Formats: sequence, C-alpha cells, structure tokens
Amino acid sequence: MNEIIYSVVVPLYNEELVINESYRRLVKVMDKIEESYEILFINDGSTDCTKTLAEHICNADGRIKLINFSRNFGHQAAITAGMRYASGNAIIIIDADLQDPPETILDMIKKWKEGFDVVYGKRAKREGESLFKKFTAKVYYRLLKSMTKEDIPVDTGDFRLISRKVCDTLNSLPEKNRYVRGLVSWVGYKQTFVQFDRQERFAGETKYPLNKMIKLAFDGIAAFSTKPMEISGTLGMILLAIGTLSFIFIFVSNVISGSDVININLLLAFNLMMFGIVFCFLGIMGQYIGRIFVESKDRPLFIVDSTTNYDKRL
Ligand code: UDP
Ligand code: MG
Repeated sequence: MNEIIYSVVVPLYNEELVINESYRRLVKVMDKIEESYEILFINDGSTDCTKTLAEHICNADGRIKLINFSRNFGHQAAITAGMRYASGNAIIIIDADLQDPPETILDMIKKWKEGFDVVYGKRAKREGESLFKKFTAKVYYRLLKSMTKEDIPVDTGDFRLISRKVCDTLNSLPEKNRYVRGLVSWVGYKQTFVQFDRQERFAGETKYPLNKMIKLAFDGIAAFSTKPMEISGTLGMILLAIGTLSFIFIFVSNVISGSDVININLLLAFNLMMFGIVFCFLGIMGQYIGRIFVESKDRPLFIVDSTTNYDKRL
C-alpha cells in the first residue's frame, strides 16, 4: 500500500504573487481530509522569485516538493512532469492562480472514493476573464468535440483528479505534443465530473498569451483529428468541379460568339482567392508535418534542473 494517498500537482510559471496564497489554501483544504498527501510544485522555468519562494515553503513543510525545469517548457509539459513524479493513489492537477478553487478537490475526492477513475472539473461560470477568452474557449471546445471521435468534455480545463491507474496509463503514452485533457478522455475508464465556478485570478497576469493559446488549440485538434486535412480534399474536389464546368462554359461561349467573355479583374481576384485557399491548406498540412517532425526527434518533453524534498530523479 502506498503511503502517500494524494498528490496535488501545481504548475508554476512566474507565479511569485500567488504561490504563498496558493500553498495556504491548498494545505487548508488537504488537511481537512486527514489522510497523507504531497504537493508537487512544478516550476516551469520561472524568471521571477517563484523558485526562491517555493524553496522557502519546501524547507518549512516536507510534504511540499519542488521540481525545477531548466527553462520554460509550457503548461502541458509541467503537468506531465507532475504526473510522472507523483506517488499518490489519486493525483489532482490544479492551476496555481486559484482560478480553480481548491475546495472543489473535496468533491473530487468524494467521487474517487465512490469508484471513479477520472473526476474532471466542469466550469459552470468563468469569472474575471475577457469576453474574447470566454467566447473563443466556448467555440473551440465545441469545434474540437465536433471534429473528434473521442468524447472530450466541453468547458473543462486540466483541473481534475485521476486515479493511479489512469496516471500510469498516461505516463506510458510516448507522444510529445500533449493535450493532456484530451488524452485523459481517450484512455477511458470510469469518468465523471464535478461543477465549479471558475474564479478570477488571485493576482498577476495570465501566463497564456494568444500564441500559446493557439498552439494548445491546434495541439488538441492535431492530436485527435485529421478532419482539417480531410476538409482540404473535399474542398479541392468541389473547386475542381467548379473550375471544370466554368472552363467548359467559357470555351463553348467563346466558340459560339467568337469573342473573349473573360473579365480580367474577376479572373485575378478569383486566382488570388484560390491561392489563398491552397496556402491555407499548405499551412494546415505544415502543422501536422511539424508535429510529426517533433515526435520523430524524440527529445524529452522537459528537462529537470533540480528538485527539493525529492529523493528520486526521473
Ligand atoms: N503555466 C505554466 N507554464 C506556462 C504557462 C502557464 O506552468 O508556460 C501555469 C501557470 O503558472 C498556471 C497554469 O499553468 O498555474 C495556468 O496558467 P494561467 O493561469 O496563466 O492560464 P489561464 O488560466 O489564463 O488560461
Ligand atoms: Mg489561470
């Protein structure tokens, strides 16, 4: 029997303004359960004082462990590292900024004790986020759902509890472009959810600027769907049919009337549009090929520089 029952995985990237409060709230909640636990801080190459503050916490409290990356590898890499280093029977993944309320962990644990292997947090409301973020998230989750065969639940992030069995299965998957919430759905097992209201960030700015959001969004689509490539084939056939019919029509009109019926401006605009479509699809293919390239290099997903309160080094 494992001596640690719960592992709480917290990714941190420049979170000096929230780490102390995050620790305080998490410990307050976890102490209520009266079972053994560890909290794993994954410092994803922070350039502020996050590392020093985390070390202070670790020195005062042996249940808190710290894993420092050699640079910023991204949120998905950080939670993947947390899952590899966790030794609990149930692993809880939660953001550091307290947007995911730690108190919800108690509901997740209740469901785990009822026999569920995955308990994901479903966002009922999202406080303090821009209209743009709320809108794009809503559209994206539904688009992803329509494109994939996997039942990836809408309006859920990575805030969830997974059992040891699920964690081991996820750790055995070798893929590098990881969209963890999709992989959790893909593995199956007994899954359920608890609802929560996503809070405003406790302090500081989002660490997910637009470029990181777009990368994550396409990681999700590329990892679980080939629909964008299939659409290019269908559209190609439709355009080929339109092009052929137009050609026959113009050719026959020219022969009958003996004059040129083509409007050159229209032709140029049409050509530009066609090039646009072709380049868009080349871009989409590039996204997939780029991901194959990354997978084939087989570099590690993250590099650990140092650890605190941790004996084993993976
Ligand atoms: N994060 C990380 N690496 C990154 C970006 C973010 O470890 O490159 C962490 C961050 O510290 C936070 C969590 O991932 O604990 C979610 O990030 P954030 O709250 O900024 O995203 P948002 O909630 O705005 O989507
Ligand atoms: Mg956040």
